[in-house]
Amino acid sequence: MISTKIRISILFTILALAFSSSSCAEPIPPQTEFIIGTVCNVNLFEKGSREAYKEIFARLREIEERMSANAEGTEVDAINQAAGIHPVSVHPDTLEVIRAARHYAEISGGAFDPTVGPLVKLWNIGSEDAAIPLQSELDQALHLIDWRNLVIDETAKTAFLKQRGMRLDLGAIAKGYAADEVARIIERHRIPRAIIDLGGNVLAYGSKQGNKPWRIGVQDPSGARGSYIGILEIINKTMVTSGVYERFFIEEGRRYHHILSTHDGYPVQNGLLSVTIVADRSIDADGLSTTVFALGYERGEALVESIPGLAAIYVFEDLSIKLSPGVKNSFKLTNPNFHLVK
Ligand code: FAD
Ligand code: MG
Repeated sequence: MISTKIRISILFTILALAFSSSSCAEPIPPQTEFIIGTVCNVNLFEKGSREAYKEIFARLREIEERMSANAEGTEVDAINQAAGIHPVSVHPDTLEVIRAARHYAEISGGAFDPTVGPLVKLWNIGSEDAAIPLQSELDQALHLIDWRNLVIDETAKTAFLKQRGMRLDLGAIAKGYAADEVARIIERHRIPRAIIDLGGNVLAYGSKQGNKPWRIGVQDPSGARGSYIGILEIINKTMVTSGVYERFFIEEGRRYHHILSTHDGYPVQNGLLSVTIVADRSIDADGLSTTVFALGYERGEALVESIPGLAAIYVFEDLSIKLSPGVKNSFKLTNPNFHLVK
């Protein structure tokens, strides 16, 4: 005769098995969290597991804790505090992003510059007290901006800002690195397909079922969030947009956005509303979306065409769109407010 205790324990085991098998079969919904200053959404589709999602969001938090320029105690904050005083030891994550940022600074002649921090702080675009700075303040900030004074020691694994008052800001490139790191976790978990969307920094991992391309909406820079100019079809690629719509304020009818000119200290004005870069690695797409926006169409497109595997979509203030050769067959205009030009 089975004792009551054993009977209860068998019942619990059956219930536990039934519960665990039914929860295993249930698809786990996509997960969203607010990290790195933006809404991060990850969809692992049918192969998503709680462990994979947990690992992904822990990794995003880790990257934020190392690279945020806005929080105290990060490695970027330590580099900024030690500007003009001493080099700071940094984790390989941070070193890799700084190395890439310096590369984009170098190839853009400083139009992209990770030492833009003093200007970013001065304008404070995205916060409630954003305002047009005084010319004297802009001049002072511009004096401090020079990527060549951001020194990496590859042997000692340190980064150093040579002048007091300099400020490192990796906001234009760190989200791309974060998306690549999420893709690495997905690969390790042998998950075949996923969409990683870190505030518009989209990485389409693998393909849709049946080896079909993903169809990703390209943000309308003149419209509401979530409205599109068209659809881009991609497989295993990343797509990152930089534009005037992400963070801005309007004063006396003029829009002041967050991509700043390292020449005059004002938001870049060159007729562009947005630049979307399509690439294999998100760190490159993110770095280049800001770089190409800052360079403007002519110099930007020359840079895009010089790098194999890269393509760009340019949206202009007159609502015209130009495509670089790499996306001519994969982008479809769907918004009648815009028109394609050669
Ligand atoms: P991108 O075009 O990719 O980048 C624009 C950003 O790059 C600007 O906002 C500025 O920071 C910088 N920049 C401007 N001009 C130049 C230039 N000429 N060269 C190089 N860089 C330039 N936001 C918050 O509000 N709160 C937070 O706590 C916060 N934490 C963050 C932590 C991390 C690790 C990161 C990466 C970002 C964080 N952010 C936070 C967001 C950040 O401040 C930027 O607004 C955001 O990264 C801009 O990304 P984007 O893709 O919209 O534009
Ligand atoms: Mg960028």
